[in-house]
Amino acid sequence: MSQKRAYLDYNASAPMRPEARAAMAAALELAGNPSSVHAEGRRARALIDEARDRVAALVNARPSEVVFTSGATEANNWALSQGWDSIFLPGIEHDSVRAPATASQARIVDVPVSSDGIAAVATIAERVLEGAGDLGRAVIALQMANNETGVVQPVAEAAAFACGHGLALHTDAVQAAGRMAVDFQALGADTLSVSSHKIGGPKGAGALVVRDGVSVRALISGGGQERRRRAGTENVAAIAGFGAAAEAAARDLADMTRVRGLRDELEGAVLRSTPEAVVLGQGAERLANTTCFAWPGRLAETLVIKLDLLGIAVSAGAACSSGKVGQSHVLAAMGLEPEIARSAIRVSIGHATTENDISAFLAAWRELGSRAAIAA
Ligand code: PMP
Repeated sequence: MSQKRAYLDYNASAPMRPEARAAMAAALELAGNPSSVHAEGRRARALIDEARDRVAALVNARPSEVVFTSGATEANNWALSQGWDSIFLPGIEHDSVRAPATASQARIVDVPVSSDGIAAVATIAERVLEGAGDLGRAVIALQMANNETGVVQPVAEAAAFACGHGLALHTDAVQAAGRMAVDFQALGADTLSVSSHKIGGPKGAGALVVRDGVSVRALISGGGQERRRRAGTENVAAIAGFGAAAEAAARDLADMTRVRGLRDELEGAVLRSTPEAVVLGQGAERLANTTCFAWPGRLAETLVIKLDLLGIAVSAGAACSSGKVGQSHVLAAMGLEPEIARSAIRVSIGHATTENDISAFLAAWRELGSRAAIAA
């Protein structure tokens, strides 16, 4: 295949940044175990310390608050497996939040979601205030931004409510980190999860950020790594790559204006060429890099395959689990008509996206439209 492909699926996984690749290559040269006291061990330890500083800086946390994990799935599982009595759970949360929550013994309080994809925190507040019985140890799970629609959630408001009512708050900041400013200190969340591969680092690394003073039960026990909070010899190369990606992503936050311009150009052109298309969450604040739109009457999976054949990588709903085809729980939680939900595709872009990628997408999109016109 000689033609260059346009990769527009950053919310599934972003392309590796050169800084991350270089940091990983350097780390792979080191023999030392970061827990060893000799020079080789200390060199490996230094890379982890540096990465911790960089990841902390990306989300304005203290380095002591960052605990490295195998990814955000582990971080979310960890946060939700703290023996909670009650969990406030919006239907738009990622499966790595929903699954451990519903598998736990906790009482699940469903948080309704508006048709624009915003979790109704006010309703949470009301329910609690109306006395939903004894909540025991309770946590609100609320992502910072949704992976499918890009809709930004009212986390600061929820955290203020949680704080005022003795609840904990966990936020999944996987899609927000590097795409909008994330300020862990100002948010007042207890825990926050981030993932390396969504910001141009390697897959299989992430972190749970735990506010200083908040105690968490270790999910994985064994050695004393990560201050006894997460046992196991650290994946030094992946962590170093994650750190380098975090630093680059923090620098590139300024580039989000350009990214927003490209996204708006793509969205505007889609709506002009396909007037029946519907942009989901359009009325809400959204991440600059994401657009999710439906072409009623089409099947998202078919659109994705046809676009793939034309050299364009996008996804239908969430594409986290391999080959998963089915109704998106996010779009269902927003109460969308099945016809809209079934035909929604997500385009998500980022640091390496160019004007050419957008033109390539639009050419392919128009091609699908004209084929449809001929067939009709
Ligand atoms: N949360 C959200 C919102 C995500 O989009 C993803 C990845 N699809 C995850 C959590 C899981 O992250 P990881 O791939 O690092 O396990």
